Amino acid sequence: MAEASYDPSNIFAKILRGEIPSHRVYEDDAMVAFMDVMPQGPGHTLVVPKAPSRNLLDADPSTLGPLFTVVKQVAQAVKKAFGADGVTVLQFNEPASGQTVYHLHVHVIPRFEGIALKPHTGQMEKPEVLAENASKIRAVLNG
Ligand code: 5GP
Repeated sequence: MAEASYDPSNIFAKILRGEIPSHRVYEDDAMVAFMDVMPQGPGHTLVVPKAPSRNLLDADPSTLGPLFTVVKQVAQAVKKAFGADGVTVLQFNEPASGQTVYHLHVHVIPRFEGIALKPHTGQMEKPEVLAENASKIRAVLNG
């Protein structure tokens, strides 16, 4: 079967273009990071390259170094901001893997001893909680 191609009407492309809102914690020339609206735990953040690709499989390799540099910065920031014991980094490719939004992104999720992740794409978080969590992460990143 032929690989599906990038669709610029995906929800993260709309967020990157500013057509729909997001709780941003980081932005540079090539990357944006914002809060996941259905977090698997408090502080669940998505790091998203501005360059269009469906996922890792069709991404330009030049995107990956800068992407993981920001993933590391965000992982350190969420660990500090939430006093977490660890950080889970996840990335899905195509529907069979659990991918639901077809613009490359990496999940960065603070983890606490003995506390399981909530389901992937589970419940919507309240906007005020996302805003407060974003401001905690920004405070560390900009501090
Ligand atoms: P995937 O399964 O593609 O790796 O994950 C997509 C993620 O995007 C899910 O964790 C889901 O909660 C999140 N998500 C879906 N729609 C939106 C949205 O409109 N805004 C934000 N910030 N996150 C979204």
